[in-house]
Amino acid sequence: MPRKLAAGNWKMHGDGAALAEIDALMAAHPSPGVGILVCPPATLIHRMATRIGGGPIAVGGQTCHPAAQGAHTGDISAAMLAEAGASHVIVGHSERRADHGETDAQVRAQAEAALAAGLSVIVCVGETEAERDADVTLEVVGGQLAGSVPDDARGATVTIAYEPVWAIGTGRVPTPAQIAEVHTAIRAHLADRFGLAGADMAILYGGSVKPGNAAEIFAVPNVDGALVGGASLKAADFSAIIAAL
Ligand code: 13P
Repeated sequence: MPRKLAAGNWKMHGDGAALAEIDALMAAHPSPGVGILVCPPATLIHRMATRIGGGPIAVGGQTCHPAAQGAHTGDISAAMLAEAGASHVIVGHSERRADHGETDAQVRAQAEAALAAGLSVIVCVGETEAERDADVTLEVVGGQLAGSVPDDARGATVTIAYEPVWAIGTGRVPTPAQIAEVHTAIRAHLADRFGLAGADMAILYGGSVKPGNAAEIFAVPNVDGALVGGASLKAADFSAIIAAL
């Protein structure tokens, strides 16, 4: 059984004052039965990890470069994230794929670098609205999984996040049946490719998860948690989502 995980992606939000949200989160969940992960901007990783100390919340990066170091202005390596205190990194988020033209091959290389640096990795996949309208969602997601997930992926270290692009930041959420269809297909892909390890990989849903819809989403088969954007910025909202998991 995959471990349940509530992951927050702060995207390009948050400054030093926002670290108070982490204090509130720790106070609300002193010994959570589920995994809690917060991925702040890179500038906050070290301070957040230090603040949490040995506490119950893991800290992650939002992307990493495939290389360990080098002439890559503005980039950050997986080893650097790890040294700053991160235990996880998100790769292949649709905003990275759209804003920075990241391809499946690049996302896979990032994931491989993250695993090599000892980080757990969350690989994001998901269709655009045009792709859903064209009824090619499963083909698109299947292609992203095949191209982006490393061959040496193992259950404890690789998590998949299904994030339909049209549901991110829009308040629009797929129906439980639509989520179930894609998560079941992802589970089948992982089991096919990785056997028992594939059965153990957590599959998160992401896209407009809020306190008001979290319980319904978590009740869907093969949904092992959520990757939460906007609602992870405030401890009260994220806490309610964690409590629903
Ligand atoms: P929202 O929860 O703000 O829709 O963002 C989802 C997301 O992109 C998380 O990675």
